[in-house]
Amino acid sequence: MTKPALLIDIYELLLKAYGEQSWWPADTPFEVMLGAILTQNTSWANVEKAMASLREVCELTPEGILSLTPDRLEEAIRSSGYFRQKSARLRSFCQFLKDRYGGDLSCMGGYDTGEMRAELLSLKGIGPETADSILLYALDRPVFVVDAYTVRLFSRLGLCDEKAKYHDVQDLFMDNLEPETGMFNEYHALIVTHCKQRCAKRAPCCEGCPVESVCARA
Ligand code: SF4
Repeated sequence: MTKPALLIDIYELLLKAYGEQSWWPADTPFEVMLGAILTQNTSWANVEKAMASLREVCELTPEGILSLTPDRLEEAIRSSGYFRQKSARLRSFCQFLKDRYGGDLSCMGGYDTGEMRAELLSLKGIGPETADSILLYALDRPVFVVDAYTVRLFSRLGLCDEKAKYHDVQDLFMDNLEPETGMFNEYHALIVTHCKQRCAKRAPCCEGCPVESVCARA
C-alpha cells in the first residue's frame, strides 16, 4: 500500500473506532490560542481550571489578558503549572497580537500561513507544536500538528522513527495527504484519543486495537 493510502486507511480506522472528536474544546479562536499555550506540560483538566479562573477575572481577549497585573494573571492560571513562565508567555503573546494585528484576530485571515508560523515561532515559549495548534485549530490553516502521541503511534505503526524530529513527522502527513484543514484537525484529535485510551506509553492495550492490522508492534 502507498503511504498516502496507508495514512488514509489509518485515519478511517481511527474515525470508525472513536467517531468525530470535534476539537478544539473552546468557544473562540482566541480561547484556542490561550489553551494551546496553557496546555504545555500539563493535562487538559488543569487548563480548563485555569480558563475558568481567567473567565472570572477578565474578558478572554488579548486586551482582557493584558489588563491584568502579572500577579493577578499568575494567580488565575496557577492550576496550569509553570504559571510564572506561562503568564509571561501569555502576556508577550497578547502584546504581539495587539501590536501586529491590533488585537483583532479576524484580520489574521488575510495573512500567509508560512509568514504567520514564522512570526509565532519567533515568540518566546512558542514552539512548533503550539504554533501549529494555533494555526490549525484557531486559524483553520491546513497544518498538521505533531505531538508526543503522534510520534508514539506512528513509530509503532512503522511509519516514523521514535526519535524522529518534529518536521520529519509533520512532513509524513503534509507530503502524503491533501492539505485539508478538517481532516488534519480530526486526524490529530483521533491520534490523541487513541493513545490516551489504548496506545499507552507502557503496556498498550493491543487486543482489539482498531489499527492492529497495520501495527508493526502487534
Ligand atoms: S496494536 Fe498496540 S501498539 Fe499498536 S497501535 Fe494498537 S495499541 Fe498501539
